Parts: sequence; structure tokens; C-alpha cells
Amino acid sequence: MRILITGGAGFIGSHLCDYLLEQGHEVIAMDNLITGSLRNIAHLRDHPRFSFINHDVTQPIHVEGPLDAIFHLASLPSPVDYLEMPIKTLKVGALGTYYALGLAKAKGARFLLASTSEVYGDPLVHPQSEEYWGNVNPVGPRGVYDESKRFAEALTMAYHRTHGLQTRIARIFNTYGPRMRLNDGRVVPNFIRQALRGEPLTVYDDGSRTRSFCYVSDMVDGLYRLLLSDEPTPVNLGNPHEMTILEFAQLVLRISGSKSEIVFVTPQDERTKDDPHARQPDVRKALRVLGWSAKVPIEEGLAKTIAYFASILDEI
Ligand code: NAD
Ligand code: UDP
Repeated sequence: MRILITGGAGFIGSHLCDYLLEQGHEVIAMDNLITGSLRNIAHLRDHPRFSFINHDVTQPIHVEGPLDAIFHLASLPSPVDYLEMPIKTLKVGALGTYYALGLAKAKGARFLLASTSEVYGDPLVHPQSEEYWGNVNPVGPRGVYDESKRFAEALTMAYHRTHGLQTRIARIFNTYGPRMRLNDGRVVPNFIRQALRGEPLTVYDDGSRTRSFCYVSDMVDGLYRLLLSDEPTPVNLGNPHEMTILEFAQLVLRISGSKSEIVFVTPQDERTKDDPHARQPDVRKALRVLGWSAKVPIEEGLAKTIAYFASILDEI
């Protein structure tokens, strides 16, 4: 297949490039590098089946030649980024998805939207299954991301229903691994960077909020299986292994062997407003429809991620 990945120079996108090339496909990565980096795809520069287009997907998208599939990952998914760039976040979710769907329609390509567990907001149902409609504050600071993805899901279903487009919606839960940005503000790079530098790990509030972390190799396998499936309705992809953020901080210290202390801080900006208290994917649908479940234990995935951050720590 000839496949376009928007957000292809980002964290998950660059791993997806690697994975699809390994499967024998031709891959075009498109990115405006607002949070992504050419460094993530530098090893692919001379690959005969890989190319890169520097383009902002909030502008109309043109790609020469046929396309069989589009993975639409372009987004600003870090809470720190979307607090700083709320309008860009809304634009990439709304206009970016509109232009990517238009391209899929013009090319007759399959379309996969990278949606998010944030569509469930601060959930009142636990674990979160695809039937749950969510608890999102549309006018809160996280609303710019959550609502952009909810709009993107609605638009994707509208193209499916109106134009018969082959569409897929992945609701991605917290995913981690090498090539996350050291300073993107999300909890995984924050704690690992702090642990490696011997700085205190900043647990927000009392550390009792929960998350469930999925290693990136599991995620790209799930995304590929979903693309190949016949399932147009949303499918959760994530690792159901749930832990509190305090437990996660302790795990990072144990695996990295760091002597850093843990400090409890209350951010003065709005980053923890509407911060979901608990998050765990119900992954029964992914198992039933895709035969997929996450395989990599958190200890193994974290060890690989810590090794990656250790290798780049001094360069950045
Ligand atoms: P990332 O920031 O590493 O990747 C996003 C990429 O999109 C970046 O390379 C960025 O430069 C690019 N981008 C942003 N705006 C763009 C625009 N207007 N035009 C072109 N490119 C643009 O983040 P990620 O963690 O790899 O996330 C990938 C996708 O997965 C996103 O859609 C995100 O919402 C979704 N997701 C990720 C997680 C996670 O835990 N990593 C969880 C839920 C959903
Ligand atoms: N968090 C934290 N310390 C940090 C960064 C994040 O305690 O230095 C918390 C944050 O408040 C949230 C969880 O870790 O409860 C996960 O945050 P992240 O930014 O990774 O993504 P989210 O899952 O909220 O989208």
C-alpha cells in the first residue's frame, strides 16, 4: 500500500513509519514539525520507500499519485502544548481532519483517525468503554484538545455515512516510548528526565490520579490492525495496567536506579484543571474485533524508554 501519515515526524507517527516500512509499504510522512522532529525520521532519509513532506495540515493537503490509506495523527496532544497553543490545537483537530478526510475521499483511501481517551473527559465510568459518551468541560483549558478530537470523530463518521468512506477511529490511551520529546511536559518524559538528572520528580497534587500506560510498539501494531479491519466505530487502544501517578513515579525511580526525591506540587497554571482522576481502557472490543491486546509489561517498556532518554539527555 501507499500510505500517508500526518504527524509522521512525531513520537507515535515515526514509530508507525518504521512499522509500515517493515511491512513492505510505501510511506509518506507529513508534518509541520511544530512539536515533531526530523531527528525522529532521520534514519529513514535514504529509504527507497520513504518520503517526507513539510506541510501544515490546517492548509489544504495535496499529495501526488495514488494513496491507499491515511493515518491522521497530526495533533498537539501534550497538555502543556495545548494550553500554550489552544487555537492551533483546535485548528489541527478541526481543519486538519477536514482536509485529511477530503484527501482520503479524493484518493479513495482508507482513513484512520488517531483519537484519544480524552474524549471521555474526566470519566464517570470506569474502566472506559467505547459506549461511554464522556464527561468533557467544553470551555475548560483541556476542552480545546478534547473537543477538537470529538469534532474529528464526528466528522470522520459523517464522511463514512455520507460518502461511504472506509474510516477507522482509534481511541488511544496514554502511550509512551523512545522519541517522546524530553520537554513535552507529559508525565513520562518529565519523570524520566528528572530521575536521570537527579532532580525531584514533580507529582502534581497528591499523586492519586491514575493512568494506564501502553508501550509504543504495542500501539503501532494495534493501529495497523485497526486500519486493516472492517470496524468503522471507535476502538479503544491501550494497556489496561492502571496505576496512580505516585506509583508511577516510584516505578521510574526503581527502574532508573535514581536517587531523586518525589515532591508534591500544585501547578499554578491551569494544567491540572479538569485533569481526569482515573483512566483505564476497557479493551474487550480491541480483543474481539482486532485480536489485539497490549503485550509489553511496563517494567520492560520503561527500561527501554529510560535508556533512550539517557542516550539523548546531554544532546538537548
Ligand atoms: P507528537 O506531538 O509527538 O506528534 C504529533 C505530530 O503532529 C508532531 O510531529 C507535530 O509536529 C505534528 N503536527 C501538529 N500540528 C500539525 C499541523 N498543523 N500540521 C502538520 N503536522 C502537525 O504526539 P504523539 O504522542 O505522537 O501523538 C500522535 C497522535 O496520537 C495524536 O493525534 C494524539 O492526539 C494521539 N494520542 C496520543 C497519545 C499519547 O499518549 N501519546 C494519547 C492519545 C492520543
Ligand atoms: N503529572 C504529574 N507530574 C508531571 C506531569 C504530569 O503528576 O510532571 C500528572 C498529570 O497531572 C496527570 C498525569 O500525570 O494526572 C498524566 O499527565 P500527562 O500530561 O502525561 O497526560 P494526560 O494523561 O493528562 O493527557
